[in-house]
Amino acid sequence: MTDDVSALAENLAKIQQQGRYRSRKIIASPQGAEVICDGRQVINFCSNDYLGLANHPAVVKAFRQAADDYGVGSGSAHLICGHSAAHHALEEELAEFTGRERALLFSTGYMANMGVISALAGRGTAVFEDRLNHASLLDGGLLSGAHFNRYAHADMDSLERSLRASHLPALIVTDGVFSMDGDLAPLPALSKLAERYNTRLLVDDAHGLGVVGPNGGGIVDYYGLSPQQVPVLVGTLGKAFGTFGAFAAGSEALIETLIQKARTYIYTTALPSAIAEATRASLKLVLAESWRRDKLTTLVEYFQRGAGQLDLPLMPSNTPIQPILAGTDQRAQMLSRHLLEAGFLVGAIRSPTVPEGSARLRVTFSAEHETEQVDRLLEALALVFS
Ligand SMILES: *Cc1c(COP(=O)(O)O)cnc(C)c1O
Repeated sequence: MTDDVSALAENLAKIQQQGRYRSRKIIASPQGAEVICDGRQVINFCSNDYLGLANHPAVVKAFRQAADDYGVGSGSAHLICGHSAAHHALEEELAEFTGRERALLFSTGYMANMGVISALAGRGTAVFEDRLNHASLLDGGLLSGAHFNRYAHADMDSLERSLRASHLPALIVTDGVFSMDGDLAPLPALSKLAERYNTRLLVDDAHGLGVVGPNGGGIVDYYGLSPQQVPVLVGTLGKAFGTFGAFAAGSEALIETLIQKARTYIYTTALPSAIAEATRASLKLVLAESWRRDKLTTLVEYFQRGAGQLDLPLMPSNTPIQPILAGTDQRAQMLSRHLLEAGFLVGAIRSPTVPEGSARLRVTFSAEHETEQVDRLLEALALVFS
């Protein structure tokens, strides 16, 4: 038998050498434009709390109140005795928000994607995924047992070639806003292909809902597409909504199918009701406070102008996800470390999360940021990139 401990240690040393070692930083404050990270106050440019709702007083208050009303644990899965009035009301509100007949809560976005894809695809069917899809979508496709195809990023010719060659019932799967790139999926073209080849289309708009589109309705809202054109929509609640959990939205038949078949829905404890009530409060803010989206637009444009003057290698994105290309994993790691020393928390996104050689700093903005903080970030970026 091999010495397992030394084999593991050897592997870890290799990951370290590649600049791919992952470690946690300890945060001792709520999320916000500034956080206490490993004991120091730093400006936070890596959170997905785009609208600044994770620590909003109305959201926190709803959470507290619901903990008084419901306690903490939900007791069981939704199908046993864990489906509360709070969950149900949130589902109805999410259905209305997305303009669909029904919505179904999942405990996380990862689980939603695994469950939805496995319920809609399997042996004897095919799944087509954008190469840069989120890991949970790729894993969902692989685990479903369907014939698994990846197309080049946003490349509709590549997708159409594979669709034409396949004769299986199919499901096309895409991020709405690509999580590590910030660009939008070519959704109108995707929905046309889905119609032409008679396939289902699933969009995971984890980074678009609440942020993109005139009413914060996400990529579907941005492109003005109907529920028929995008029949399966997945959203997450831990990002712009500032809370936790996820949902799928679509037709009555889709949701009933998921309740019968999505294993990550059936075999897991329902998320706490207090989370659902907090999310209901944050949904109200998403709808009512469009200034948060306007502020994000202003901040992103301000950053793009400044980064342009510095000739920083920004990637093509107009969302609050503004990646700066670094190249190697080691370089991304070093840049992120230097920024942290200067008081800025910016994530280094490396392989295998993104393709080798395209490691990047993933700068994200929140409606809680001020332009003065963006100025300071730009100054620090000028230094570390020089
Ligand atoms: C974050 C993310 C998920 C996972 O959602 P969680 O609720 O954090 O599990 C799924 N899809 C995409 C595109 C994401 O960015």
